[in-house]
This record gives sequence, C-alpha cells and structure tokens, in this order.
Amino acid sequence: MMSLNLSMFCYLVSSVCCIMALRGLSGPQTAKGGLFFGIGGMALAIVTTLMVPDMHHFAWIILGVAIGGAIGAVTAIKIEMTALPQLVAAFHSLVGLAAVMIAGAAFNNPEAYKIGEPGNIHGGSLVEMSLGVAIGALTFTGSIIAFGKLQGIIPGKPVTFKGQHFVNACLGAGLVALIILLLMTQSAMAFWMIVAVALLLGVLMIIPIGGADMPVIVSMLNSYSGWAAAGIGFTLQNNLLIIVGALVGASGAILSYIMCKGMNRSFFNVILGGFGGEVVAGAAAVQSDKPVKIGSADDAAFILKNASSVVIVPGYGMAVAQAQHALREMADMLKKHGIKVRYAIHPVAGRMPGHMNVLLAEANVPYDEVLELEEINRDFAQTDVAFVIGANDITNPAAKKDPASPIYGMPILDVEAAGTVLFVKRSLGSGYAGIDNELFFYDNTMMLLGDAKKMCEGIIKALEHA
Ligand code: NDP
Repeated sequence: MMSLNLSMFCYLVSSVCCIMALRGLSGPQTAKGGLFFGIGGMALAIVTTLMVPDMHHFAWIILGVAIGGAIGAVTAIKIEMTALPQLVAAFHSLVGLAAVMIAGAAFNNPEAYKIGEPGNIHGGSLVEMSLGVAIGALTFTGSIIAFGKLQGIIPGKPVTFKGQHFVNACLGAGLVALIILLLMTQSAMAFWMIVAVALLLGVLMIIPIGGADMPVIVSMLNSYSGWAAAGIGFTLQNNLLIIVGALVGASGAILSYIMCKGMNRSFFNVILGGFGGEVVAGAAAVQSDKPVKIGSADDAAFILKNASSVVIVPGYGMAVAQAQHALREMADMLKKHGIKVRYAIHPVAGRMPGHMNVLLAEANVPYDEVLELEEINRDFAQTDVAFVIGANDITNPAAKKDPASPIYGMPILDVEAAGTVLFVKRSLGSGYAGIDNELFFYDNTMMLLGDAKKMCEGIIKALEHA
C-alpha cells in the first residue's frame, strides 16, 4: 500500500509524462519518444491506482484489465491504417460509457466515494457528476453513430428532418433543466432522465452530419470524452483523471479547430451538418467534353527521369492503396538519377491529421524531405513534375476560383504551377468533397489511371529498364 502523499506524487509524475507525450507526438521526429512517455505515464498511473489505500477486489480488477487489455491489443494489431478513425470513435464510446457508469455508482453509493450520503450529496460533487454523466452519455451514443457511419454499418449520408435543430435545442435546454432539478432535489429520476436525454441527444446531434465530416466529429467526441473524464475525476477526487481528462478535452478541441481551418469550414458549419454524403470510390466521374491526357507507367517514368525536381503530393488514395513503400522505392530511384525529390503535405490530406506523415514515416521517408503546405507551395512554380498520388480535393483549383464551390477558400497545393502534373488515381471521379476537379483537363496534366501502388510498381519497373 502507498501513502496518500506518495500516490499524489506518482499521479503528478504521471500527469507530467502525459504532457510530455502530447509534446512528443506533435512532430514525427519526437513521436516515438512521446509514445514512450505516454506508455510510461499510463503504466505508473495504473500501478499507483492499484496501490492507493482502500483498494480491494484485486481479482476483479485484474480480470477486467486482462479481458480489456487483450481485446485492445488484438484490435490494435489487426486494425487497418485507414480504419483508425472508426476505431478511435469506438474507443471513445467506451470512455463515455465508463463516465456514465462511474457517475451512476457514485450517485447510488456516495459514501463509498466520500461525497456525502444518498439524498445528501455535496453540491459541488453533484454538479461535477451531472456534467460528467451528461457529456459521457452524449459521447457514448454519438461515438457509436460516428463509428457506424465510418464503418458503413449505417448510411454515411446526412439524416435530416424538418425542425431538427429546434428539437436538438429543446433537448439541450431540457438537459440543463434536468441538471438544475437534480441539484435541487437529488432525485434518482432526474439523474436517470439526464442519462436518457443525453443518450438521445448524442444520436440526434451526430445523424445529420455527413460521413465525410466524421473525422472532425470523431475529434470533437474525443474532446467530449476528455471533459467527461475530467468531470468524473472531480467526483472521484482523482487529480490524475482531472488533468488527463482536461488534456484530452483541450487537445481534441484544438485538433477539431485545426481540421476545420484546413478545410476552411467553421465548426458550426460542421456541427449543423449536411455536407458530404457517402464517399464512394470512383463515383461521380466528371462528365466533360474536354480532352484528357492519359498516360502509362512508361510515360510517367520517362517524364520523371528527365526532370530535375519532383514534388510528390500524397493523398487519401495512397493510404487506401498502401502505396507508401512502393512510392519511397520509386523516389529512391529518382534520387539515384540525381533528381531532387520532396513531399508536400496538405494539413487535411487523407482522413485524419498527420495521416500522410505517419504513412511516409512508416516507409522510412526522410523527415527533411517532407514539407508542409506553407513551406513548399511557392516552390511548385520552379518544380518540373508534381506527382499527385491518390490526392484530389487538396489540389482542386476550385478552392481558389469558384466561390460557389463547397471547398472555396480551402488552402490548396498549387500543383498546377509545376511544369507537368502527373495524377495517379483510378478514375476521373471525385474525392471526399464529391466535386469535380478541372485540373484533370489542364494542358500540363497527365492522368495515370490505376491503383496507386500498382502504378508506382509499374513506374519502378519502367525506370529499371530505362
Ligand atoms: P480526396 O478524398 O479528395 O481524394 C482521394 C482520391 O484518391 C480519390 O479521388 C480517389 O479517386 C483516389 N483513390 C482512392 N483509392 C485509390 C487507389 N487505390 N489508388 C489510387 N487512387 C485512389 O483526398 P485528399 O487527400 O486529396 O483530400 C482529403 C479530403 O479529406 C479533403 O477534402 C479534406 O477536407 C477531407 N478531410 C480530411 C481530414 C483530415 O484530417 N485529413 C478530416 C476530414 C476531412 P479514384 O476513386 O478515382 O481512384
């Protein structure tokens, strides 16, 4: 058993480790170190919690940790990189559910939590508990809907009905009224009504949001789950839970903001929903009479080999095709020919922040070749070839030219300024935003239609024989 002071000290060290983890995870070079801090901090937190005074029922706890840990480990090993957003959503739903269960237990047995007696719970604890339970219940059902949409179990299309926002506003007001009722009466009915209304609000808030906006919503739900945990941390008088919950809450909120900024959308615009339906690969092919230049892997190899500078622009399709290894191999061959190769990363390329950085790091692409939009955008005009692989929206000039476009105002990579644009994708179909890209028809564009990985392998073969 640990003394209270020692456990407080260990919790403090653990909190600092979590802060260091976030700091480390903010850049690819430091990410590994950040992960170790996170693992160390969490391990210390678990051990400390198990050793605090008044800890009983070790067999149940170990059984729970073994079952939960085994499920978590198997899921993490098996999960595809492209399915990470739905995995995160599924895990957040569990954080929300845990918050509801802890609050329920504390409400029924306040003596065990040293927050008063049934019917006479301390006012402050009741406020923290009601906020934790409301946010937790909302996060639980909201995350399940987000998971269902991303996994394709329920339609990704926005589900809207007349008066939807009014209904949601009424439910939100009802929630506030029930929390006040609980504070005044401490009635069990008010407590469980809060749970029921918050569960319903979680569903109704997320169903009008299109599958395409789900990554932002997952990040927002991540933030909610953090605040729910912090609320419950106050109930349990656990400083670590308060600090870590607040860290998750704040970082999730900042991430949502960054994603909205990268898409040039306001957060309310995302929340109010209706943008982007189901994302169907290769759907909605552009109907145009304009001629399109279509090339082969051999043509691409010829153009690339004769270039002196190449900028690679990866997007979601590279992740789908898992083309990053073949791409790096291709880039290595070009470098051997004395060609300067760099990578341009758009802040919202792929389907989650840092998606492309993670994949390129996995393929051991040197960090100094990977540049952010602001660092490289002006260089396209001095670049011979822009090699766009599985990207679409992040290059679409409509964002600059067409005020009516849903992506108008989104910062894009100016690939069209390069001497030649090689576009690797399977069709002339649209991407995430579901809109046409006129870049496919530009004079300096050559479409390389096919799977990204196969196309890179084809180019490698052609370069070998060149
Ligand atoms: P896009 O979704 O615009 O385009 C991806 C393209 O990849 C598609 O047009 C598709 O074309 C192609 N593709 C799919 N599979 C393959 C394959 N196997 N081989 C080759 N190509 C393939 O992705 P971008 O990365 O350009 O843009 C990201 C979009 O996601 C932006 O609109 C952004 O706002 C949005 N978004 C990003 C978030 C983030 O955090 N990163 C969060 C929320 C939204 P085809 O079917 O013809 O092959």
